[in-house]
Amino acid sequence: MIVCKLMMHELTAKLADTHCHLDFPEFDIDRDEVIQRAKDQCLRYIVNIGSSLEGSRKSLELARQYDFIYATCGIHPHEADRFDNKVLGALSELAKKDKVVAIGEIGLDYYKNYSKAENQNSLFISLVKMAQDLGLPLVIHNRQAEADTLKILKEAMPIKAVVHCFSGDEKFLKECLELDFFISYTCNITYKKAQGLRDLVKATPLERLLLETDAPYLPPEGFRGKRNEPIYVKYLAQEIARIKEITLEEVASVTTENAKTFFDLK
Ligand SMILES: [Zn+2]
Repeated sequence: MIVCKLMMHELTAKLADTHCHLDFPEFDIDRDEVIQRAKDQCLRYIVNIGSSLEGSRKSLELARQYDFIYATCGIHPHEADRFDNKVLGALSELAKKDKVVAIGEIGLDYYKNYSKAENQNSLFISLVKMAQDLGLPLVIHNRQAEADTLKILKEAMPIKAVVHCFSGDEKFLKECLELDFFISYTCNITYKKAQGLRDLVKATPLERLLLETDAPYLPPEGFRGKRNEPIYVKYLAQEIARIKEITLEEVASVTTENAKTFFDLK
C-alpha cells in the first residue's frame, strides 16, 4: 500500500482493474475498505465480474454503491452443468440494467473440466448470443480450449471481446489480435517461471491490452499465498512497463483509455 501511494506521485494517469471479484466471500470482512483504498490510491475504474447469477447480482449492487465500479453479468463455464433457461432469463434481465458493461466471464475451461464440455459449449453459445442481442462486449475465460473458443467466437462475428487472464500460446494470441480482440493479463506475469507469459505481453500491442487482477486470485510475486486486491494492479502495470521498456505513465494512460473505450465507461 505504501508502494502504491509513493508511486502515485509519479503517476497522473490512474489505473483500471478490469477484472476482479469483489463480491466473493474473501472480501466479506473488509470489502468497503478494500474499495476505498483502491479509490484513494490508484484506481480510476474497477470492473467487477459476474461469474454466476448471484455473483452478477452482487456485482451490480457494488456498481450502484460506488461510482467508479462497473459490473458484468456472466456464468462461468464451471457452472455449465448446473443452469437452466430460468437462470438465463434472469441474467438477461439483469444485464439490461445501467452500469452493466459486458457479458462475462463466459467461455470454456477444459483444464479443470468441472462441467461437461458439451454443456460448457451450449452455455457459452447462449451467452454469446445474449451479448449480441444486448449489444454488449464479451469477457472470455479460456483454459486449454483455444480451438473451440475461437470456433464459437468466429461463428458469432462481428463481436467485441477481451480474452481475460490470457494463457494461450503465440498462435492463439495472433488469432485473437486478428479478430480485433483485447487481451488482458493478470499479476501472474510477475511470477518467476512466467517467462512465456512475459513474451506474450511483449507481443501484444499496448493499444490492445487491458489490466486485471482477477482478485482475490493470482496475487503478484511477493504476495503469493495471500489474497489479491485491486490496488495490486499497480505491480502488473509496473511489470508491463519493464517488459515493454516504456514508462509506467504510458502503461497507465493507454490501458485505462483502452478500458474506457472497450467497456464504454464514463
Ligand atoms: Zn475471473
